[in-house]
Parts: sequence; structure tokens; C-alpha cells
Amino acid sequence: MNRVRLLVLNAALGPLDYRVPEHLAVEPGSVIVAPLGPRQVLGIAWESERLPGTEVPDARLRPILDVLPVPPLAAPLRRLIEWTADYYCAPLASVARMALSSGAALRGGGTLTEYRLTGVMPPRLTPQRDAAIAALDGEQGTIRELAELAGVSEGVLRGLVTAGAIEAVAVDIDRPYPPADHEHAPPDLSEGQQAVADRFVKAVRARRFAPFLLDGVTGSGKTETYFEAVAQAIRDERQVLVLLPEIALTENFLKRFEARFGVPPVVWHSSQKSSERRRAWRQVCASSRQGRGAQVVVGARSALFLPFARLGLIVVDEAHEVSFKQDDGVRYNARDVAVMRARFEQVPVVLASATPALESLQMAEAGIYEKVELPSRFGAASLPDIAVVDLREQVPPRGRWLAPPLVAGIEDRLARGEQSLLFLNRRGYAPLTLCRNCGYRFQCPNCSAWLVEHRLTRRLACHHCGHEVPSPETCPECGEADCLTACGPGVERIADEVAQLFPEARTAVVTSDTLSNPERIAAFVDAAESGAIDVIVGTQLVTKGYHFPELTLVGVVDADLGLEGGDLRAAERSYQQIAQVAGRAGRAAKTGEVLIQTRHPDAPVIAALAAGDRYAFYAAETDARRHAGAPPFGRWAAIIVSSEDEAEAREAARIIGHAAPRMDDLAVYGPAPAPLSLLRGRYRYRLLINARRSAALQQTIRDWLDSLQFAPGVRVGIDIDPYSFV
Ligand code: ADP
Ligand code: ZN
Repeated sequence: MNRVRLLVLNAALGPLDYRVPEHLAVEPGSVIVAPLGPRQVLGIAWESERLPGTEVPDARLRPILDVLPVPPLAAPLRRLIEWTADYYCAPLASVARMALSSGAALRGGGTLTEYRLTGVMPPRLTPQRDAAIAALDGEQGTIRELAELAGVSEGVLRGLVTAGAIEAVAVDIDRPYPPADHEHAPPDLSEGQQAVADRFVKAVRARRFAPFLLDGVTGSGKTETYFEAVAQAIRDERQVLVLLPEIALTENFLKRFEARFGVPPVVWHSSQKSSERRRAWRQVCASSRQGRGAQVVVGARSALFLPFARLGLIVVDEAHEVSFKQDDGVRYNARDVAVMRARFEQVPVVLASATPALESLQMAEAGIYEKVELPSRFGAASLPDIAVVDLREQVPPRGRWLAPPLVAGIEDRLARGEQSLLFLNRRGYAPLTLCRNCGYRFQCPNCSAWLVEHRLTRRLACHHCGHEVPSPETCPECGEADCLTACGPGVERIADEVAQLFPEARTAVVTSDTLSNPERIAAFVDAAESGAIDVIVGTQLVTKGYHFPELTLVGVVDADLGLEGGDLRAAERSYQQIAQVAGRAGRAAKTGEVLIQTRHPDAPVIAALAAGDRYAFYAAETDARRHAGAPPFGRWAAIIVSSEDEAEAREAARIIGHAAPRMDDLAVYGPAPAPLSLLRGRYRYRLLINARRSAALQQTIRDWLDSLQFAPGVRVGIDIDPYSFV
């Protein structure tokens, strides 16, 4: 009798056993459709000894219905799914779902209709038809794509189809991608770069687990060096995964990749069309010596769980970025999971950064990661000069935020035709709007947060839940007109200030609001590269990745902003952000200058930045962390309790707090109302757990929470190694 145990993709259900009918072949990892009552469920065949469940007698087993036409998930990916679920206290089913993230890809192939020229001339030629035929030579695509390409209406092209000048062709929707050429345009590496590249290439060839920390200053050519490892993997017919922290960075990466390898890499992220996702997913698992499949995938963190058939290398670029931490659903850190995937797959993994996370540096110190360094910028470029502007002495005029030295710096760059970048990590015009007459403050009805004014779109918006209202004319409380005041600056307000000071300057505001899709990002990069922008005003979105040769001045508008709020990683994050944005200055022949505006020039972070002494900063921060038992020396976990009913949430938090374990190597703080005590209509409480490295943290939390009962509307989330404390 042939039985199979399924990991069912529904966190509410446990593992289920089924019978495998004679005509179906099942192996571990097979993706299976099975009956459940009157419904059908999707599951993955799992080794039953690794997935404890209730033993059902043979006679009561129902047969599975179908095995889907995709390769079984390989053992290394199955082990990764188990590890992730176990480490982050998440349901196995929720993690497994991330591996089967393209529903469309699971259901076999299909075709798509595209069009191309036949070479037959239509009997009647209009200027538009003529133009279309000239523009479409050698092209193939959907009618819509071709119409866009040729700059004519779809009607014109349909007319040409009827006239026999254009024909339809059926295309496999999961067709392979054009091959990357590892010898397309290899760079001339500097001696230092070559040594690093050689080290990576050797590791790719060895096909063993090897974690690297690539610690290189901004502009040192980290990308160029790990591209050599990518080239080696392509040569060996192995696949590569490159993780980037933000989709906004992908554009720039695509260009550089294409310049080096002749074709763009395969892209994976959540805002793609489902047809693009299914093609990528199927090509990722199609890789073999015979068929090429997807060779290099660049993606956001969710790409980590793609079913690679022949993975040979993982790169995590900007590895220090906190956006690698997912804060809803399965709360995992893609940087750490990437290292685990590399371990299960037995391949090298490169964590690249100019400002490595303290955790990563510590792993290098302990000899677990191999640290490779690029200590200087490539070519003639030198690191920028950094100076502090003490806002207590250099006071900006009332209602303004740029102090005289920074204004003079911008003026100077404008006169020389160079670019300036002003960094302020705050979207919108002003973070708070209040009524001068009655003191009313605009707050989100769903969250304990102020509404942020966006002048470009004339709205007040909540950055947590997306709630928006049109910017009002009168105070909703006292009815007074002309009494609403914007408090504090956001990037839009700084851009306004620049426009007032320098009406002739061409300014671009760069935030997730203005660069909301790949086309806008590409347009911005083109404009900045061609010198069509004088002053860039941006949030953390502009701190990394970009390389604008004419950019010679960086102004940090408010260096103290990141240090507010007492987040346990605030100092490190501030340091990284400012060091990264400073790294945008003077990346080519001209030396860059960085001005940091602060009210606390003596704060260790600011002092270390000004002195260019990162070791001083890391040493001080390491000491502080060791003293506090904070990561990497101790461990944290958070429990987040929420409900739409405030009393229910409070009671659940109390029950959890009451049942807290008493142990020597683990301390529990709270429960306390979360700093964001209301989020998307849910009331929230938090507990923070600080544990020694020796403590069995996850098991303790599971044992603690497993036996507790809560009201039905209560959600309890566990956050292992949390990055967010709101
Ligand atoms: P990082 O990622 O370390 O900040 P990049 O890889 O972006 O550095 O390199 C910075 C700039 O220097 C890029 O424009 C890159 O193309 C250029 N560069 C780096 N190394 C080389 C090289 N060996 N040959 C030519 N250009 C290089
Ligand atoms: Zn809100």
C-alpha cells in the first residue's frame, strides 16, 4: 500500500495522510492536490518521519487526486522550509507557501499570442502603416506592446494583421530566457578587486558552503567583484540568486548586469505581473544541463524560497539593510535565511556591504564568515570630506531647515554645474498638521499616528495603514479657516526651501511616493545621470546603490532624527544611513563633500562619522551591546498581541505576562502598550524577551504560549530577532 504524508498549505490544518493510486508517482517534494471533505487542498509530499502526525489506518485513507506537473521541491529547500518555520516560530504551511508563490506556475504550460511582420506589404500604405512597418522590423510582442513600440494605435496594427502584413505566432508562456554571456564585457579589475574576485571564483568552483562578508567602502567596486563569481557560476552552468533590499534598486542593477553579461537577469518580486512570475518560477526550476532555465535571478527577499534546481551562488547586496527583515506574515530575516539556504545547498554566499551589520562583523570576528575587504574607492575617486554643521551655532532662519554652510555649498555646486543631494528620512511635506486656533492635531482614525501632509498630491496620509483625506481648508474641530499649520519638515518642504532659495535650480524629490514604479525610477536615474537635475532631495531611498558622477555635495538635513525614539538599533541604523548617503558624494574624479547638520555633534555616532572612524563607532557600539546582552551577544524576541477590541487585547497580554517563564538565562519585559498602540484598527500590546545565547529561546516561547487560550479576535505574533519595536 502506497501512502503519502502531506504538508498541507493551510496553517489551520496539520499534516494529512493519503493513499497514492497506482497510476500516480509520488516522491518527497511532489506538489499534490488532495481531497478534504468536499473541497480540495494543495500540499507537498513530505518525509513522514520529519512531519509527525496522527497515524490513520490504511483502510480509512482517501486517494490523492493529482500530482502537479512541476519538479518536486528538492531536499535542500525542504530543509530550509523546516528550519525557517522552526527558527522563527512560524507555521510550516506558511513558510512552504512562500516556495509555491506562483499559483499559476503550478498548473502546467500554456501559450500566448504574439505578433510579428510577415514581410508581405499591405495593398494600401498609409503614413502610419509605413511607420509601423519600419519600427517593427525584427520585433515580436503582443499587439499592445507593438503599438507602444511603434507609436501607433492598436487599430492600425489590427488593420495590418487583416492585410496580411503582420501574423500571429503562438509563444510558450514559460519560454526560456536568452542566455547570459559570461565573457560579454569583463572589466579590468584593480589588483585588490582581482584578489577578492579570485577568492569568490574559487569558492564557486569548490561547490561547498562558504559564507563571505564582503566589506568594501562605497564605490570600491563590490558589484564588479561579485560579478566575477556570477560569471563563474554561469560558466559552470549553475544558477545564481542576488538579493536586493529594495525593488527601487533593481533598475540600476539591471543596467549594470546587462552591460556586463549582455542580457538582463531574471527579476523576481511581488509587484510583477503574474505571467512574469510564473515564467520566472518555472524557469527557475527548469534549469538543467540540457535546458538552461533561469541563470541569474535578482529579487526581493521572497526570491529566497524559489525552487532553484542548480543553485551555485547566493549574493545578498546591501546586506546590512533592515528591509531584509520581513515584519508581517512569517517574520524572517532574509540575510540570515540566505546563509542557511547556502548551507543546505552547499554553495557560497556573499554578504556585501559598506556598513556591515554588527551581527555580521561579529560572525567574521568569530571566524564563521570569511571577511574580504575592499578598503578604497575604485580608480581616481577618493572618499568624501565629512564636516559637521552644529545647528546650535549655525541657526537656519525661522521656518527653514538648511543652515548657512549647507546653503552656501549648494550655491557653489549650482555655479559649477555639479549636483547636490539633501537627505532627510521623512516622506511628504510635514509630519504633523495642527490648528493654531484650537490646537487640533490631525490623527489617523485607525492608528496611533499623525497624518502626514503630502503637498504634491494635496492629501493628508497615514504612513502605516494608507488612510488618506484631501488636505482640508478649515479646521474640522473649530471650523476656523486659514489656521492650519504644518509642523516640521519632510522632503517636499525641503524641496520648497531649495526652490525659494534657488528658483533656477532643477530639483527632484525622491521618495517611495515619487519613484513608485520601475519607469519612474528609470526616468529619475536617466535625468540625474544626464545632468538634468541640480538638487536631489530624498529619503533613505537615495542613500544606496546610485552612482551619479557629478554629485559632489551631500547634505544630511537632520542627523538627529534617527536617534530619536530609543530604538535599540537606532545608533547603528543612523550610522549606516549617513555613511551610505555620504557614499553617494564624489564617486568619480571630483572629490565629494558631506555636511551633517546636527544638534548633538558630540554624540558618538556623529563624532565617528565626522572623524571617518568607523572602527571607533563599531567598537563603542559593540561594547554597549555586550553590556546590554543585546544581539549579537544575547538574543531578543518580541510577542505582539493585538485585537480590534482594546479590552480583549489587554486581557490576552495580561494572560501571557502572567504565564511568563521564570528562568535564569531569560528575562521577560512587559506587557506594555506598543508605541504604535493602535495599528490598522487593532489595539496592540508587546512583550520583549531578552535571552542569553545559551537559552532555548524558541522552544521556551512555544511551550509558554501553546497552552494559553485567548478570545477569538486576538492575534499573537512572535518576532524572533526583531528589528522593529513599534
Ligand atoms: P560599490 O558597490 O562598492 O559601491 P560599485 O561596484 O558600484 O561599488 O562601483 C563603483 C563605480 O566604479 C561603478 O560605476 C563601477 O562601474 C566602477 N568600477 C568599479 N570597479 C571597476 C573596474 N574594475 N573597472 C571599471 N569600473 C569600475
Ligand atoms: Zn493609519
